[in-house]
Amino acid sequence: MSTFNDFSFAGKKALIRVDFNVPLNDAFEITDDNRMQATVPTISKILKDGGSVILMSHLGRPKDGPTEKYSLKHIVAHLSKLLGIEVQFANDCIGADAVDKAAALQPGQVLLLENLRFYKEEEKGDVAFAEKLAKLGDVYVNDAFGTAHRAHASTAIIAQFFSPANRTFGLVMEGEVVSAEKVLHAAQKPFTAIIGGAKVSDKILIIENLLDRATDIIIGGGMAYTFFKAQGGKIGNSIHEDDRMPLALEILAKAKAKGVNIHLPIDNIIADKFSNDANTQNCASGEIPDGWEGLDAGVESRAQFAKVILASKTILWNGPMGVFEMPNFQAGTKAIADAVAEATQNGAFSLVGGGDSVAAVNQFGYHDKVSYVSTGGGAMLEYFEGKTLPGIAAIKGEVA
Ligand code: AMP
Repeated sequence: MSTFNDFSFAGKKALIRVDFNVPLNDAFEITDDNRMQATVPTISKILKDGGSVILMSHLGRPKDGPTEKYSLKHIVAHLSKLLGIEVQFANDCIGADAVDKAAALQPGQVLLLENLRFYKEEEKGDVAFAEKLAKLGDVYVNDAFGTAHRAHASTAIIAQFFSPANRTFGLVMEGEVVSAEKVLHAAQKPFTAIIGGAKVSDKILIIENLLDRATDIIIGGGMAYTFFKAQGGKIGNSIHEDDRMPLALEILAKAKAKGVNIHLPIDNIIADKFSNDANTQNCASGEIPDGWEGLDAGVESRAQFAKVILASKTILWNGPMGVFEMPNFQAGTKAIADAVAEATQNGAFSLVGGGDSVAAVNQFGYHDKVSYVSTGGGAMLEYFEGKTLPGIAAIKGEVA
């Protein structure tokens, strides 16, 4: 399969699936344009080659067809500014306006189509709808990693209408796929996976898949308390899932059988209420008194986790070590970020993914101190669970 940079887009109309699902405030102003900025290199390369660009995306979750609130027209001005050219807009993603404007598009020009999800056919993966979209362009480029785990019309079904020579990942997708595959299939050992967050149930599949790949797994955040309770420890009021306790024990047993080291926090910062101004103390794991709850990794745990991370050559980090949104409970997550940054500087490959760990890395200003920050929360998680992502399979011509 050719890479994006192997393609010459001269004279071609490139139909690009982007992820412009950006947050808008009540005045329809974009409050975070990271996803738009990320696609600029892909779009620029096509324009520079002498091609034209037709952009398609979803925005929000419109339930009943066209809705003012979810119109992509709100982002046209900002997109024009980012690209330095005036972007045209079609007030429908299929139909006469889209067809006419796409047909009239000249090299160097950009057309944005209206929200794909104004049609139910998009999420249903409707083949006829996908074919109508496909007719607008000569080449299909998928640059929307955030929706790669969905078999929607524009993310996967559409690919069948383009020959392998006329479909490709964009630079955002390519970066995600290359980084994820490096960790999943070519990880240098020791390979440490750091899995945190609130619930075991959300992370169980990723942990199971990593048991066959990682040498060390650090389990932190709220999910650690299910493990402690399952082992007979006292967890006070800490977040936990009783129904997942057998699963937690199963994970520990499987890890032992496979020779994977599981690192749970030795100690915790506990609080007498779920609040930043709660009274706190450092407490050994499994000994949390009633009326208290664990909200962060403790002092010794941080040092122990850092030691494991610093000895690693490959690092995958998904999920915070505590309630990092509150300043008094972010030291555990910050310690992980510090250690991952230092290991990266020493030559390790580090991939950070999943909404909250990405938010943490950004909050600490460490975005450039790790090897790769994945933009696709759900898609990234499913990739690391070992699932085939329809958006990736469709470009490669594999069956999802
Ligand atoms: P996730 O989306 O599963 O990665 O979970 C992230 C969320 O887990 C964040 O909002 C954290 O505040 C929360 N979290 C982490 N540790 C704890 C904890 N010990 N108790 C309660 N919530 C936690």
